[in-house]
Amino acid sequence: MNRPRDIEEINICDVTVFVLYSDRPYLCETDDGNIMGKYNEFDQEITIANMDDADVENEKFLHELIHAIDANRALDLTEQQVTSLSHGLYQVLRDNKLYFGVDATQKKASAEK
Ligand SMILES: [Zn+2]
Repeated sequence: MNRPRDIEEINICDVTVFVLYSDRPYLCETDDGNIMGKYNEFDQEITIANMDDADVENEKFLHELIHAIDANRALDLTEQQVTSLSHGLYQVLRDNKLYFGVDATQKKASAEK
């Protein structure tokens, strides 16, 4: 599975969402703790903090993807539902090595044709 840092934009529900990366370990501080990822619906941007742990970074990215799907599909999920979905989905994808796309080597080979 690619780390989010390999991805610059992503198609979510036929909307292009840009993926930005901060150099900081968190984006901002709140009373609930440090914010490590953010989805901006107005600008269609996901911003991810610089995390040392790939699992934490990947799950945070998946969490923000779910926020983007929620917004684009008007699901009206709560933060707790988004967090539960990202934890559960990330565990299943990681532990079962599930991948549904074209890997980077296949993508490069088809681009060269
Ligand atoms: Zn969230």
